[in-house]
Amino acid sequence: MAKKGELSKTARASLAQRDDQNFLTSRICEKCGEPIMLKELQPVKVLGQGMAYYHKSHYNAG
Ligand SMILES: [Zn+2]
Repeated sequence: MAKKGELSKTARASLAQRDDQNFLTSRICEKCGEPIMLKELQPVKVLGQGMAYYHKSHYNAG
């Protein structure tokens, strides 16, 4: 039988893992000007300008 402490430890570990993949980056979306979550980050190379960053959904929307 699992102890209560072991259960909450597992829950916390899975929470931390989710946070890792979904933290807020310092990138700002060129389209809407809002900060971009890592999961939504779409880097785009712009000639003569370097990199630009978009939310994936905003980039695909054009
Ligand atoms: Zn955006």
